[in-house]
Amino acid sequence: MSKSRALIIYTGGTIGMVKDAASGALMPVNIELLLQHIPELNRIDAELCIEAFETTIDSSDITPAHWIRLVEIIEQNYDAFDGFVILHGSDTMAYTASALSFMLENLGKPVILTGAQLPIGVLRSDAKENFITALELALLKENGWSKINEVCIYFEYHLLRGNRTTKYSASNFNAFISPNYPALAEAGVNIQIHTNLLLPITKATPAFHKKLDENIAVLRLFPGITPQHVKAICGIPNLKALIIETYGSGNAPTASWFVEYLRQTIAGGALVVNVSQCLNGAVEQGKYKTSQQLLAIGVIGAGDMTLETTLCKLMFLLAHASMEDVSLLLAADISGERSHSEN
Ligand code: ASP
Repeated sequence: MSKSRALIIYTGGTIGMVKDAASGALMPVNIELLLQHIPELNRIDAELCIEAFETTIDSSDITPAHWIRLVEIIEQNYDAFDGFVILHGSDTMAYTASALSFMLENLGKPVILTGAQLPIGVLRSDAKENFITALELALLKENGWSKINEVCIYFEYHLLRGNRTTKYSASNFNAFISPNYPALAEAGVNIQIHTNLLLPITKATPAFHKKLDENIAVLRLFPGITPQHVKAICGIPNLKALIIETYGSGNAPTASWFVEYLRQTIAGGALVVNVSQCLNGAVEQGKYKTSQQLLAIGVIGAGDMTLETTLCKLMFLLAHASMEDVSLLLAADISGERSHSEN
């Protein structure tokens, strides 16, 4: 029987960084240097191949063009590999995982993103465990089929659904949480996969989408926000969707100027989408008086979707569907990203 094959895609991030002698700042290095630090990879009973971004980056420099590049790499190599591991900085990993979960439709193989809080060359680095277990997960099979058929993040002993995650710690090894969906697997002495939580196996042909629409803005509310601030954001030219980050279960000021700017934005043809600043729980417009005004003017509730996933889902949908369908699909669960369908 031929060996299983995994493709490692190296984008950059702390996992492969070294200290710049002059400035003392952490900067990405090339893949060869990174791999020198993990001789254990030779003991994995699989064929491992590597693709690296031409210029490796700190993930704060990630753009939708990089997501398209990742989709191209996966598409070109899809048939030849059993699974994919993307080495990525943790800062924007939740965005990349969310974007890929929509751009890779009918995924029949695992795409696991991982990285590290400490560079691989540092003695106490978390890089090795994250990398090696991510590879094991990417190679897992049952009856000849990949066990995991979705985009995930593996970090510090937990496998999380990519489009449910958010980075919540800059200092803990456990950098990610999945506030509204349980972990898909835990890696202890054994790797325990919660099969009932995984997306179902699909035998449909995968589709690799390479278009995104970036005409989106995010408005985070805070007590004292001024009309000038809201007006400036609502007035961005070519705006197709505005995400408002609201309080609690989707509540916002009832001041008439605020509601009027949003109403005008919607009248101008853009969608206004309500995401809560709370990580856990869901937007329920109409529950409080302070969200009824939003419901009345046609603001769309994001349910329990994270900001990262709402943003990436909008970028994806706006590039592929009519405005009417974007509203409908936002409220639906298309890739495991939301559980509720409230307002
Ligand atoms: N700044 C780094 C990055 O996101 C942090 C990390 O890799 O964890 O690329």
